[in-house]
Amino acid sequence: MSTRWAEARSKATAVARSAHTASPPCARSEPQTVERGEVVAPSITPFAVEEPEAPLYAARRHIYPQSVHGRFRTIKWVVLAITLGIYYLLPFVRWDRGPGAPSQAVLVDLPNRRFYFFFVELWPQEVYYFTGLLVLAAFTLFLMNAVAGRVWCGYLCPQTVWTDLFMQVERLIEGDRRERMQRDAQPMTLNTLALKATKHFFWLMIAWWTGGAWVLYFADAPTLVKDLASGQAPFLAYAWIGILTVTTYFLAGNLREQVCIYMCPWPRIQAALTDEHALNVSYRYDRGEPRGSVKKNAALRARGLPAGDCVDCFQCVNVCPTGVDIRKGLQLDCIQCGLCIDACDAVMKKVGLPTGLIAYDTDINIQRRSEGKPAVFNPVRARTVLYAALIVAVGAIMLYSLAARATVGIGVIHDRNPIYVTMADGGIRNAYTVRLLNKAQEARAFLLIVEGLLAAEVDVVGSAPNPEGQFVIDVGADQTRELRVLVTLHRKPPSPSTPLTFRIVEMRSGEHAKASDHFRGP
Ligand code: SF4
Ligand code: SF4
Repeated sequence: MSTRWAEARSKATAVARSAHTASPPCARSEPQTVERGEVVAPSITPFAVEEPEAPLYAARRHIYPQSVHGRFRTIKWVVLAITLGIYYLLPFVRWDRGPGAPSQAVLVDLPNRRFYFFFVELWPQEVYYFTGLLVLAAFTLFLMNAVAGRVWCGYLCPQTVWTDLFMQVERLIEGDRRERMQRDAQPMTLNTLALKATKHFFWLMIAWWTGGAWVLYFADAPTLVKDLASGQAPFLAYAWIGILTVTTYFLAGNLREQVCIYMCPWPRIQAALTDEHALNVSYRYDRGEPRGSVKKNAALRARGLPAGDCVDCFQCVNVCPTGVDIRKGLQLDCIQCGLCIDACDAVMKKVGLPTGLIAYDTDINIQRRSEGKPAVFNPVRARTVLYAALIVAVGAIMLYSLAARATVGIGVIHDRNPIYVTMADGGIRNAYTVRLLNKAQEARAFLLIVEGLLAAEVDVVGSAPNPEGQFVIDVGADQTRELRVLVTLHRKPPSPSTPLTFRIVEMRSGEHAKASDHFRGP
């Protein structure tokens, strides 16, 4: 595990909470002026963190993130537009599955117990595909983490995306950091009240759209939109929109960074998964320290004393959505959004220094550079290869099982009470509930065969056998059919429990499925 993350993890949230009071990982002593007027160079001791125990929860301080422009901000806008575009518009994308089948590309059809995702249709019996998807998602997250830290948190997590959107709305209405701070420091005026009311109105509108889009995944979207508008939609739809409006509003509008810091378990998990080769947004203290104003550092340099590139302008802190000072080292509060990189690069350009004082870097490189060694980047290593291999393996298994997926199925449930019935002639009868599954988009006929008991008489309640004495059962397209099947033996069964096999064979393709049960007797 990376040294810095090990520290961050061991101190858990406590260290992170005390971000503004804790010592930096590069514990730096201030330049000292001794009696003769000489300036003594500060010492840099990497990772020398000695902090008092901080409480597990610190009172919230209001964060006023400043707007910023740059590479990572642009990437975040693009990701935000794509992810929100997909979320809001996907329910309206159509997919032709043939007559009678839903035409919505992504649909959770709860009444009919189906999940549709473009060409994939899953039945409740195939819930293991969701398990596969979760496993795939977990390994993908692990791989992202091993290569570039909390990319998920910084760019893709819904909490980050919606909070980013809400913050932008806030900026557009209430102004940037300085304006908001000044306004909040003043007594409430009508103008402030109007601005805040407008902001909350737009937040609620976004939250409402978010809840509205969510329910569209559970019914035909265009029809549900009309029903919602005319008040004809089911009560549950309105209830879910209400619930999601409230949660989105509070999580993205009010709680914001508190969700990442206190509610989400991922920062703790990923701290245990990362290593010193993982790229993380890092302050290059080897280059930045000793920090000081442009003037102060120029004075140090003029005296031939070491001076870092950090001009201590706090721009990196001001733009941070979680209020982190990245110069104190990696912290659990840092969602790795890269906005401090943009802020610092802008400052570096202004003061005529090379950009990249804050950058995606690895622990090992910072260490190597301070020892005068060249930087190394090692994305291909045992853990990344292992995660990639697992992703490929799970993905291949899922693709294969989808491609080879059977479109017929059968389930059998033996009557429990009574287990068997003794007939007037001394014969024994067992009863079963048999469910036939036709997953094809066309009606099909299935031959039902019961095997395992010689001379047993099979009867399907409500169906007559064909002239050959066989039962052919019709099942509609994409439907199941439940049968009551009676198996009678007009003699003493060979044992109290004889294995039986129920087999169905599709009449045209020969595709078949089977299920096992028992014939019970005295
Ligand atoms: S410290 Fe930098 S990377 Fe981390 S959350 Fe703040 S702005 Fe984003
Ligand atoms: S933005 Fe860059 S120069 Fe300014 S305080 Fe942060 S690290 Fe130092």
